[in-house]
Amino acid sequence: MNSDGRMLQLVCASTNPDKAAEIAVILEDVAMILSRPEGMGEVEENAPDLQGNALLKARAVSRFAGAAAVADDTGLEVAALNGAPGVFSARYAGLDATDTDNINKLLRDLKDVEVSARGARFRTVIAVCWPDGSELTTEGSVEGWIATEERGSAGFGYDCIFIPAEGDRRTFAEMKAAEKNRLSHRGRALRALADLLKEKCADGGIRTPTPAKGTGT
Ligand code: IMP
Repeated sequence: MNSDGRMLQLVCASTNPDKAAEIAVILEDVAMILSRPEGMGEVEENAPDLQGNALLKARAVSRFAGAAAVADDTGLEVAALNGAPGVFSARYAGLDATDTDNINKLLRDLKDVEVSARGARFRTVIAVCWPDGSELTTEGSVEGWIATEERGSAGFGYDCIFIPAEGDRRTFAEMKAAEKNRLSHRGRALRALADLLKEKCADGGIRTPTPAKGTGT
């Protein structure tokens, strides 16, 4: 809740409905998540790191909507590939790669790597930007390893080949959304964000922004 007693509203920069749903559920106590404004073009993600890309997206959406915006950028860092695909995770198999293309390439690249050497980490940076130029970021990560084959049908992206170390050897795609959110990189980054936003609201540091230009819940 804001210092003026209203729920904080954040326009979500993501066009991925699965990701937007995770953000909305985890932040439900602190913010109402509005959909990205209609008519807004793609934001070029050309920063060298996750934080840079998250800020690029949140700034662009905040400017377009005239309201506070939230964006995330995520990378999968595979130890046997020296941290690749990392910031290039969405484009691992090429500029127009689908999730299936990226998964197939990763499984091919790791085909001779034994299970004990398939360690990996998901990392997410979340950025929130306000029209007055203030911004904040939080980060979350989860350690695990890359399965030798796809398992499960929930989630999105690389979920069907990522096994979190703190789990019971199921992939994220074999878990219910709440189980994934409890362990995941994005869950951790968003809970850190929720704590920060609560602190700021309690200090009276956040005004209720007024979204414009075609945003909706
Ligand atoms: P971006 O942050 O949307 O650019 O995501 C980068 C890449 O990581 C894309 O290929 C996404 O599908 C993938 N990705 C992002 N978040 C997750 C997740 O929570 N699980 C699995 N894959 C993800």
